[in-house]
Amino acid sequence: MADQIIIKNLEIYSNHGVYKEEKVLGQKFLVSAILDTDTKRAGVSDRIEYSVDYGKVCRRIAEIMENNTFDLIERVAETLAKSLLLEFPLVKSLEIQVKKPWAPIGIPISSVAVKIHRGWHRAYIGAGSNMGDRLEYISKAIEQIEEQEDTKVVHVSSLIETKPYGGVEQDDFLNGCIAVDTLKEPMELLDFLMDLEKQAGRKRMVHWGPRTLDLDILMYDDRVMNERELTIPHKEMHKRMFVLEPLVEIAPYLMHPLLHKTVIELKETLEEELANERVNQNTTGN
Ligand code: ADP
Ligand code: MG
Repeated sequence: MADQIIIKNLEIYSNHGVYKEEKVLGQKFLVSAILDTDTKRAGVSDRIEYSVDYGKVCRRIAEIMENNTFDLIERVAETLAKSLLLEFPLVKSLEIQVKKPWAPIGIPISSVAVKIHRGWHRAYIGAGSNMGDRLEYISKAIEQIEEQEDTKVVHVSSLIETKPYGGVEQDDFLNGCIAVDTLKEPMELLDFLMDLEKQAGRKRMVHWGPRTLDLDILMYDDRVMNERELTIPHKEMHKRMFVLEPLVEIAPYLMHPLLHKTVIELKETLEEELANERVNQNTTGN
């Protein structure tokens, strides 16, 4: 989708800035926005309800800027982006630029601006528990995700009983997958999920050991990243039947961006590998 609605240099007088005089006297701001939204239906029907009313968007930008006083234009831009994405559901992503043409820095400057790009992202989360009330831990987590203003739960798979993985002697797991639409960036999503794990009383003792709640990011759009705290897609997802089995239920044709296989294909491949392993064990062990 490459259609855009472009708003350029909306003039708003408001009171954001680190300096006292900026807060007291205020100054002129110029806000530009590029809204990524499919305009075809509106284009064909000529009906405003199928599009994003840019007049409303502009009035909302003005209202948010006039009713708040922030130190940073970063904060102004972030607040505008979040509000517009939440309030105009046809906008899938957007770019916001907040410009100060008269930034009071004591040296002549033509302008200073912050420009950000934000949007909705589809993420798949794997959930597991093998301690205490497993169903309650997972259901509570789903509820807490749903309570987030910037995250919507789109699909929940059935929960399956699985044998532990990774060689540690422990109780059986309950596992499932959740699809969400979220405004959180990957690291933010990870921090949020780890916070839910902590609230569920999770203590990290044995690697791959028993846990009240485990929440992993399996995929995030078709993003590929490999940082110390976060690898996307999840490194082990294609090796774990307890991930692929529930995931196939809610996203069979989801494409793994590195392995270039759909979830169904990943599951079939893993089934073959496991069957081969069993055959090998039987022949070597007699
Ligand atoms: P596992 O889920 O493999 O059993 P843990 O839940 O103990 O292991 O996670 C250990 C670390 O894995 C976390 O602290 C987190 O920083 C890191 N990690 C890396 N990639 C991901 C991911 N995609 N989802 C969740 N955690 C991840
Ligand atoms: Mg984990």
